[in-house]
Amino acid sequence: MIKVIVNGAYGRMGREVLKAVSSADDMEVVGAVDTQGVGTEIKYLIDTGSLDLAIESDLAKKIVEAKPDVVIDFTVPQAVYDNIGICLEHKVRPVVGTTGLKLGVIQEIIARSALLGVGGIIAPNFALGAILMMEFAAEAAKHFPNVEIIELHHDQKLDAPSGTAITTAERIIAQRGDFVQGPFNEMENIIAVRGGKMAGGVRIHSVRLPGLMANQEVIFGGLGQTLTIRHDTISRESFMPGVLLAVRKVMPLKEIAYGLDKLLFEK
Ligand code: NAP
Repeated sequence: MIKVIVNGAYGRMGREVLKAVSSADDMEVVGAVDTQGVGTEIKYLIDTGSLDLAIESDLAKKIVEAKPDVVIDFTVPQAVYDNIGICLEHKVRPVVGTTGLKLGVIQEIIARSALLGVGGIIAPNFALGAILMMEFAAEAAKHFPNVEIIELHHDQKLDAPSGTAITTAERIIAQRGDFVQGPFNEMENIIAVRGGKMAGGVRIHSVRLPGLMANQEVIFGGLGQTLTIRHDTISRESFMPGVLLAVRKVMPLKEIAYGLDKLLFEK
């Protein structure tokens, strides 16, 4: 059995993760942590009837008590860096869905995890269809270097552009090399978002509205034609097969992987 603590357990994604992990035959929820809903019994929160745990507030304390193999983190951009640090310090594998970490910070975390020999994953998107969308977009960019991204999310999302849109842009840029698309408004440019470290620019439009969940369109333009690759997340359940796959696949890793594609396609 893989022992799992869910961090951000009271949140929208955290509740879905609690349901998915507690239904998996090879996993056991050994702790639920959040800054909200402390003391709430999980069996009332997710209606499984069987989990005899309540939400606690101190991740480090819970790790020492419950000795998990994995901590799944769906919290907030301001907390996720410290949460990963706590996991690494206790040699527990972080499976991180929380978005908003900058690329330089992710690289620093990966280097730290490699030094400590602790595996894990930071994945801006756990929906398998979204991973395929990024894969197809990277392929299309070889032939259609002119591209823009529209990402649409619910109005409670704290970060913009989305982690998925930024990763899609990075993968497109890696394929189209020195190609420069323009003209650009520098304030909109992904280079500004990633601290000027990249060799090209992809414009990302962020839409935040009630009624939406998570959707993205990647629109390529060529001579007399456009090509649109679109992914729609209908419910938060869509992320769960990817989260469970990640929990299983991080077990033998000795450093943190960035992106579910690394585990899905075994690159
Ligand atoms: P949410 O409903 O706001 O849940 C986050 C929960 O974490 C809240 O209860 C929040 O409490 C709590 N929290 C804040 N700081 C914490 C800390 N230090 N320790 C423990 N818990 C803490 O948000 P959500 O919709 O579930 O989304 C969570 C994150 O997942 C976001 O970054 C979102 O972009 C990301 N996401 C990723 C994927 C993916 O596939 N990778 C998919 C969907 C969402 P407070 O209300 O007090 O802050």
